[in-house]
Amino acid sequence: KKITIAIDGFSSTGKSTLAKQLAKHLGYVYVDTGAMYRAVTLFAMQNNCIGIEFLDKDKLVNSLASIKLNFKFNPELGFAEMYLNDVNVETEIRTLEVSSFVSTVAEISEVRSKLVEQQQEMGKEKGIVMDGRDIGTVVFPNAELKIFMTAGADTRAQRRFDELQAKGDNVSYEEVLKNVVERDYIDTHREDSPLIIAEDAIEIDNSYLDRKEQFDAVLE
Ligand code: C5P
Repeated sequence: KKITIAIDGFSSTGKSTLAKQLAKHLGYVYVDTGAMYRAVTLFAMQNNCIGIEFLDKDKLVNSLASIKLNFKFNPELGFAEMYLNDVNVETEIRTLEVSSFVSTVAEISEVRSKLVEQQQEMGKEKGIVMDGRDIGTVVFPNAELKIFMTAGADTRAQRRFDELQAKGDNVSYEEVLKNVVERDYIDTHREDSPLIIAEDAIEIDNSYLDRKEQFDAVLE
């Protein structure tokens, strides 16, 4: 019997790595909801709705109807890539610049309800692994398996820093750490759907687990 798997937790705890492994192993569909919030943020940046110390919330909310988000499976990569209005934005949404604005955009209730609705639609078919911040609490409160991932901020910042370096992104460890800590704060303090652990979620602290140990624990 296929089930719904919800994976939530703080930034850079390895949610997507785990979710991708599970989806591949089980033959499930993987949905990265962070990519959807990132794509809306990229749209906001491209359309002058957000910038340094400025947010035109009304303009963004009024444009929401013209934002089309899709995932398209890329067989070479083995996972689905994010498309914003039919343009592949998979690379652009991963920059530190997008990361620095995304939690502010994710605080907007109208943005959340649009994305949650789309996520619930995708989840109508069982056999899905979805990762995010509110999957077990808001999107799929009835998910059969809920995982909540944590890890120390320094471990997470180091991972994100290594990833960005590998992509040739010229950022400092301090900038990445600052971003991780800021996003944790905004994600846990927003009014609408703050990041909290669902009552029936299994918590995994992966500070000291490697990928295989973590995967085996969840599979069990
Ligand atoms: O998972 P990722 O780090 O790519 O998510 C980017 C940001 O999007 C998070 O820091 C959070 O602010 C927001 N987000 C959210 N709810 C989700 C997924 C992501 O608020 N379900």
